[in-house]
Amino acid sequence: MTIREIEAKSILRKYKKIDSWFISRYGMNLYRGCIHNCIYCDGRSEGYYVDGEFGEDVTAKINAIEILRRELDPKRKRIPLKRSFVMIGGGVGDSYQPIEETYQLSRKALELVDEYNFPVHVLTKSTLIKRDIDILKKINKKSRTVVSFSFSSVDDKISAIFEPGVPSPTERLKTLAFFKNEGIACGMFLLPVIPFITDTPELMEETIRKASEVNLDFIIFGGMTLKEGRQKDYFLKTLKNKYPKLIGEYENIYQKNKWGEAAEEYYNSINLAFNSIIKKYKIAPRIPLALYKDILEENDLVVVILEHIDYLLKLKGRTSPYGYAAYSISQLKEPLSSIKRELKRINGVGKVTESIILEILKTRNSSYYKKLLTG
Ligand code: SF4
Repeated sequence: MTIREIEAKSILRKYKKIDSWFISRYGMNLYRGCIHNCIYCDGRSEGYYVDGEFGEDVTAKINAIEILRRELDPKRKRIPLKRSFVMIGGGVGDSYQPIEETYQLSRKALELVDEYNFPVHVLTKSTLIKRDIDILKKINKKSRTVVSFSFSSVDDKISAIFEPGVPSPTERLKTLAFFKNEGIACGMFLLPVIPFITDTPELMEETIRKASEVNLDFIIFGGMTLKEGRQKDYFLKTLKNKYPKLIGEYENIYQKNKWGEAAEEYYNSINLAFNSIIKKYKIAPRIPLALYKDILEENDLVVVILEHIDYLLKLKGRTSPYGYAAYSISQLKEPLSSIKRELKRINGVGKVTESIILEILKTRNSSYYKKLLTG
């Protein structure tokens, strides 16, 4: 393993629109590269420009905290940052990988998030996050904390093959139970499920059942992508070795394309399976509204709810106009409440969408959204 130290120019990644998976406008990568070395990790693909050998070499941004202070401090901002969860994790390196024990960049970033009163959402696969329970609780009391762990399933043996550098799913579930016990909202990113290995209805059901036993607030689900080049080659090497009979199946569903996506019919079939299991266990397939409706400003709240409605309809195999409307709203400069009478002039907004928006503006909720979640 080689550790490289670099001075970064900026740390806070600002999204062009609110991210409705994480309920976040801002994220950060404190490290580049990841010793966890998950076999399917897309951080390995050429597009991310991670230096050195992925899985062995890690770069630490040693001036991260100094820069982050400048970026978060409201006194230094002409336009204040918008309210949303600040996202730690979910990039090209786990924020709680072993190097964090030495550099403590994630801990120090949390201290700043606490100092400047932002809510935080941390996504990791590492139980090291327990070390920071004191700050996470402080943030939760003032502004709110969400802790999420990612899984490809709850099978410890399969995880040892595809996630060789991280604590077992059993350990991850125990850690989630620990945070829930401390009053912190927790979720699972069941992402990616590994085709024909962890996406079977039986194993998905076991995973969701175990998530429900620790009372998780949500499960966000997704299939695997395999980008041509380093990511795909590395994955297929392990597959050939451990599951040689599946090579043909993979060739069928992963035909060459820019984003490494599998065939649409494959994604549709696992989405339908996920939808029927999650309904049985009554777990939300998105971060529940109660965790952010008092945080977001109105346009962002509308965008997130419309995108969630869009997702729920597609999960049921239906088409939806709401994603397009959400995108148009995300581009607006003015608050929706100031143009209430002209909503239908927004691209993608028709009569039904208009009434959903007006209800959200009035109640910060949507009866249609609620119906879709329970129906
Ligand atoms: S923990 Fe995340 S970033 Fe690290 S190797 Fe695994 S998938 Fe990639």
